[in-house]
Amino acid sequence: MREIAILGATGSIGTQALDVIARHSGDFRVSALTAHSNANELFAYVRRFRPRFAGLVREAPIPEDLRFCEWFFGEDANERVLRAAKSHDALCAVVGIAGLPAVMAALEVCGRVLLANKEALVTGGALVMEEAARRGVPILPVDSEHSAIFQCLQGGQEPERLILTASGGALRTWSREAIQRATVRDVLKHPTWRMGGKITVDCATMMNKGLEVIEAHYLFGMPEAAISVLVHPQSVVHSLVEFADGSLLAQMGVADMRVPISYALGYPQRIESGAARLDLLSCGPLTFEAPDEARFPCLRLAREALRAGPYAMIALNGANEAAVAAFLENRIPFGAIANIVEQILASTLPERISCVEDVYRMDKGARLSANVEIGRME
Ligand code: NAD
Ligand code: MG
Repeated sequence: MREIAILGATGSIGTQALDVIARHSGDFRVSALTAHSNANELFAYVRRFRPRFAGLVREAPIPEDLRFCEWFFGEDANERVLRAAKSHDALCAVVGIAGLPAVMAALEVCGRVLLANKEALVTGGALVMEEAARRGVPILPVDSEHSAIFQCLQGGQEPERLILTASGGALRTWSREAIQRATVRDVLKHPTWRMGGKITVDCATMMNKGLEVIEAHYLFGMPEAAISVLVHPQSVVHSLVEFADGSLLAQMGVADMRVPISYALGYPQRIESGAARLDLLSCGPLTFEAPDEARFPCLRLAREALRAGPYAMIALNGANEAAVAAFLENRIPFGAIANIVEQILASTLPERISCVEDVYRMDKGARLSANVEIGRME
């Protein structure tokens, strides 16, 4: 029986992880659940999975029947829950840089970290990977592309190149002019995946793929130049690895996050995920195209930030989180997201990042500058 803490339990990844865990109730026990503010939803999961610990960033009155569990509230609820539960596994499925302190705490007290929260690696990649190596704690990727690469690398051979596939997002076929004016509704209609709002917007700008290039750099220790991106609208090939002999290994399957989630949960075993089987006869032709950095400049910006160093990746992420939130609140047009990120990136001065406090300070500065820009546009 393996105990697992799920941070961000009410989100797209959190709920799908609970779905997989419910299929293996004899093998996993949920020791802790957290969420930001959707208290009623969290209460329903606490009632069903009966963890010993639970946390909410925004405090709410706890129903009488849920007092069996110890509750933590506030910005540091994730970390406090993790330290109390000391579970073997932690699934970090919080969205945004808010997940970084939780990942650091999980590395301190848990035996394995199942990582969905890519922003933790984008903002604190070197610190996270150093801490994981120092403590000997494996980080198992949950992001589908990184899970695909991780699966392809099980043979133990060194790869020459990683190829991340991208669906292309909701605006893949749109003209440059139309993209500028895309509405929240247009953008939230993702063609192949059902996900949280922030990542769905990131898919439409292709910032998501940029963040994933950075994520792959840290997880697999590959230089930026050895990580390619291919647009693959069917989302059947989840990513590929190229080896010295010219062989490409790919991982394929239906677009269902329960597959990478169950791979991380069961690793090194494979366990039932609940996902449908891929029927190659009916999934239609598989196509691949080069990403268009003129229409989707965020991919280029993320690569530039990775080459520039940690300070630039923190600025990129902070500006993007602020801009995406403003777009989702209808405060800025879609096209402004890339402009704001580009502007903040260009105006941020290099700084040495040697601890997580440096990360938060840098992030705060980037958000502040981005919000000034956003204010000017309103
Ligand atoms: P989501 O918005 O659906 O859910 C986010 C969850 O985190 C919610 O439960 C929310 O209450 C919680 N949360 C937010 N801030 C928090 C905080 N400070 N403390 C505790 N909980 C907090 O997001 P999602 O789509 O599930 O994505 C989660 C992470 O996984 C993101 O980093 C995303 O990039 C990554 N990811 C998601 C998918 C997907 O299919 N959804 C795929 C790959 C990677
Ligand atoms: Mg992904």
